[in-house]
Amino acid sequence: MGWYILIFGLLSVLLVFAGVAALGKRKRELGDMERTMHMGEGHTHDPALAHPAAQKHETGIKETGASGGVFRKEGLGAKVKHLFHGGGRTDTWSGLEDLLLKADLGPKAATDLVNRVKADYKGGANVEELVHREILEMLGPDEPLHLNDGLNVVLVVGVNGAGKTTTIGKLASRLSLEGKNVSLAASDTFRAAAGEQLEIWAKRAGAHLVAQERGADPGAVAFDAVKAAEARGSDVLIVDTAGRLHTKAPLMDELGKIKRVIEKAGAQVMETLLVLDAQTGQNGIAQARAFTDAAEVTGVVLTKTDGSAKGGVLLAVREELGVPIRFVGVGEALGDLRPFEAAGFADRLLSG
Ligand code: GDP
Repeated sequence: MGWYILIFGLLSVLLVFAGVAALGKRKRELGDMERTMHMGEGHTHDPALAHPAAQKHETGIKETGASGGVFRKEGLGAKVKHLFHGGGRTDTWSGLEDLLLKADLGPKAATDLVNRVKADYKGGANVEELVHREILEMLGPDEPLHLNDGLNVVLVVGVNGAGKTTTIGKLASRLSLEGKNVSLAASDTFRAAAGEQLEIWAKRAGAHLVAQERGADPGAVAFDAVKAAEARGSDVLIVDTAGRLHTKAPLMDELGKIKRVIEKAGAQVMETLLVLDAQTGQNGIAQARAFTDAAEVTGVVLTKTDGSAKGGVLLAVREELGVPIRFVGVGEALGDLRPFEAAGFADRLLSG
């Protein structure tokens, strides 16, 4: 009898566990469905009809601070101050270089910054202020996207996974909110799902998408897109490109061809933006050089500054690639792209 009660009891406990697990699974499924619907919400309305102002709430653009990128605060200023307590001795300068290397400035930017500060340093000077000033000098003036009247073509390049598609979506949304008519060209016809992903972003951003089937000629897509954008009276056409990087030659050929086709279609490439993942650090910068060699890159978008990357990587990018930072990615949402502001960046890097 005791055995029956024990087995019955065990079965009841198992049943209760199975019930709880099934309920949890259903809840997760519902959550996934809700997220998918949210991603695809553009499918339910014609973005061309939606006024940008009406979308502002949806995108949740909050422009408070952090336009130098979110990055963790480094507290570099206090460390520099402490280091220079006894004046600028030889070992102090090498100590400063070590601090900068630890902040991920990379060898070139670290040496350059030390030399600049050294040249200006006089005994008793406020070193923290000097470092701040020289960082701003190295970064140069903040430069927004250059856009003219008429159709502006913006070519977007970068390795897969850097955040290219997401950045295009965010940029399209930002420009739409500024009242611009935006078109997108899905010229990354190589990667499976690249077109579908871009379509979702286009709908969320209220932009018009020109795409062809997978494997189509990227130049042909760009040509069609220029013609369609002109016909629609678009202000900006953002062209996505394939991020594969086996060797430099095909990359150069493909980017060169896309550019020539765009010109043949009667438009000018105003900007070539290189999208770079801040978290790939110094390795990512070396890889990115293939793009600055292949295309005339006019600006960098540094993504994922909200991750584990140290702020110094931004100075390394500026110094190693010699191209201004135009935007920083501060998250995965539609409003998480900010125009770069050097002063905010320097403040954040030095304060802790
Ligand atoms: P692509 O292959 O270069 O087109 O990269 P995707 O746009 O698909 O982005 C790759 C991943 O990075 C996705 O999970 C994005 O959500 C994520 N991502 C892109 N930009 C940012 C950013 O600024 N912050 C964070 N946290 N994630 C980002």
